[in-house]
Amino acid sequence: MTQQPSTRATVPAAEGRRDQYSFVDPRTAFAVIEPPVQQQEEPGLQSRMEPVPDLGETSYRGTGRLQGRRALITGGDSGIGAATAIAFAREGADVALSYLPEEQDDAEYVASFVEAAGRRAVLLPVDLGEEGAPAALVARAVEALGGLDAVVNVAGRQIQQPELEQLGAEQFAATFRVNVFATFEIVQAALPHLPAGSTIVNTASAEAYQPAPDRIDYAATKGAINNLSKGLAQQLVERGIRVNVVAPGPTWTVLQPTQGVDPEELPEFGASEAPLGRAAQPAEIAPAYVFLTSAESAFVVGATLNVNGGMPTP
Ligand code: NAD
Ligand code: MG
Repeated sequence: MTQQPSTRATVPAAEGRRDQYSFVDPRTAFAVIEPPVQQQEEPGLQSRMEPVPDLGETSYRGTGRLQGRRALITGGDSGIGAATAIAFAREGADVALSYLPEEQDDAEYVASFVEAAGRRAVLLPVDLGEEGAPAALVARAVEALGGLDAVVNVAGRQIQQPELEQLGAEQFAATFRVNVFATFEIVQAALPHLPAGSTIVNTASAEAYQPAPDRIDYAATKGAINNLSKGLAQQLVERGIRVNVVAPGPTWTVLQPTQGVDPEELPEFGASEAPLGRAAQPAEIAPAYVFLTSAESAFVVGATLNVNGGMPTP
């Protein structure tokens, strides 16, 4: 058996939670955390968070659901994208991960788990806000993986601005460039490479329906991604390509302590928003991406899978 790489001390799971299939009370599947007030510069390093989120390093159990697949996962260095990368590898997929150059350490940590699962991890640092970058990323991924049949758009930015006057046109545009334009451009560039049976999964948010007043640019991008994906799904289903969306609720990731939310709100992060009474760990979001990428969801097209701890959705 392959030696597992060293694992960081992460948010504790319930005692009986050995893997994602263990029968546990969802309210306590992972600890209710009270993170101390902390702040890093965007995009931040997950390894420096307190506490470090759980990516499923010790718990995610693969059962061959993505055997032989080749996936591009943006934002695969940390948080939800990282947990998805580990899950995909354990399900049998090779993965190309994109991330910003300053996130190299986090990316290498994730790659070590992908490789321990016996799969390939291609590391592709890139700023998706730069012109032409999304298409160039796809080209590099296709070349390195020898093809592509799964696109997973997870990268996103969220900078809170409590007052409208502080939300400059530049930030508004930058948030849309990374969250919406890059998602579109990646799909467009990937299209000629995707055989029938391929899947695209984009990432919205509970904020698509319940925008927080201090994140209106971010929330608007998430509404746009939801809508864009449903339109794309209808167009691409005629080619046998399925498009779906995962819409997470509050999840403990480095997005939060990098100006994503008011730092003073961090100790209560997730507890009040989600009826489940706690924030999710990235390990709990990843299975949704696995399901929507696996052929077991063949009849699921243009759907949004809300993984949000019980927040009502339309
Ligand atoms: P995260 O910070 O761990 O991941 C976001 C990633 O986006 C970063 O690691 C970075 O690699 C990438 N990124 C940001 N700007 C980029 C740029 N200019 N170029 C290239 N890559 C860039 O945080 P996360 O919470 O795991 O976020 C993943 C996705 O989940 C995002 O789309 C986010 O909007 C969404 N989401 C998160 C939550 C939550 O509570 N954490 C809730 C709903 C939706
Ligand atoms: Mg990161």
